[in-house]
Amino acid sequence: MNRAVSSIRSHHVARLGASRTAAASFSSSSSPEAAEAWDGRFRLHKPRGQHLLTNPRVLDAIVRRAALRQGDAVLEVGPGTGNLTVRLLASAAARVSAVEIDPRMVDAVTARVDALGLAHKLTLIAGDAVETEFPEFDVCVANIPYGISSPLIAKLLFGPYRFRAATLLLQKEFARRLVAAPGDSEYNRLAANVRMVADARLLMDVSKRDFVPVPKVDSSLVEIRPRAAAPDVDLAEWLAFTRACFGQKNKTLGAIFKQKRKVLELFTRSHGADERRHSNAGGGGGSRRLVALGGGDDGDIGDSDCNGSYDGAASFSEEEEVTAFKAKIAGALESSELAGKRPSKLSNDELLHLLRLLNEQGVRFQ
Ligand code: SAH
Repeated sequence: MNRAVSSIRSHHVARLGASRTAAASFSSSSSPEAAEAWDGRFRLHKPRGQHLLTNPRVLDAIVRRAALRQGDAVLEVGPGTGNLTVRLLASAAARVSAVEIDPRMVDAVTARVDALGLAHKLTLIAGDAVETEFPEFDVCVANIPYGISSPLIAKLLFGPYRFRAATLLLQKEFARRLVAAPGDSEYNRLAANVRMVADARLLMDVSKRDFVPVPKVDSSLVEIRPRAAAPDVDLAEWLAFTRACFGQKNKTLGAIFKQKRKVLELFTRSHGADERRHSNAGGGGGSRRLVALGGGDDGDIGDSDCNGSYDGAASFSEEEEVTAFKAKIAGALESSELAGKRPSKLSNDELLHLLRLLNEQGVRFQ
């Protein structure tokens, strides 16, 4: 057995005393601390984000801050051994659906919830939370695996789900970026995209020492509340536009949209979009497609996203078209009066205004 795991095991077995099974470890006779402790019965996978939150005060605080209402349907992502799950089940919520990728965790949480007599309130879904379709829910409350933060939030906010709030424990730095405002040094594409459809705020910080095994990073609890009214914008187009804008954070919009490679890529894309529109007129465009929100480094311009769209062998007339296209982009930028501004300083209204002007000129981002 790995030395780190065995030392965690002996430490927590000592705290657990005689209780050996998952079910017994949450018996009402054990202390609250022992109930959350990890007994090391199998090896935790760090690449899967398996850091269990074991501080009962923090677990209680998360449920309190989630402000669950009588009868709520709760979605939990990555229940692990069920430290948060059992509290959600004991709350005012009517039911909890929990999506867990690791069958060993599924077994552990099932045994624990069975022993508490709460199985009737829980639906466990074995699968990848990024891929699996979620059941209907009112609130999402979860200490998620941090590796899926960005695609999961994209799925929640840009997928088909209607819910009141998501209260999520996230990596501290990610949480700061998520709630940043235009002009903040951390302002970025993720925050701009989230702001388009929701309000996000920081609720509290959580120390890395409250987890087993102790991760490298601290955490923060964040509340995300989707806005009731959907914004008047094609969201897939908006997401592609912010990818272009925030790819090179410190450049001005004028500099970003003057780059030859960028112009050629947009030219090809816009023509493709024209052709798609003509070939399936009224087809709607499928804006359901999920696009990563930009939670990591946003340096994706010009590599995987934009490769190979232009082979450089343009005919004479195509070159003229490109020149005319470039002038259209420049014209839209000029009338927006934003050419000299950096995207990270702009509000979504300003960015949206520019997107509309570009779209009017036939410039398409997806
Ligand atoms: N919420 C628990 C466990 C957090 S550890 C607690 O607070 O103690 C993260 C959990 O997410 C692990 O159980 C891990 O197996 C699970 N997980 C990792 N990737 C996942 C994915 N893509 N979909 C669903 N669950 C996942």
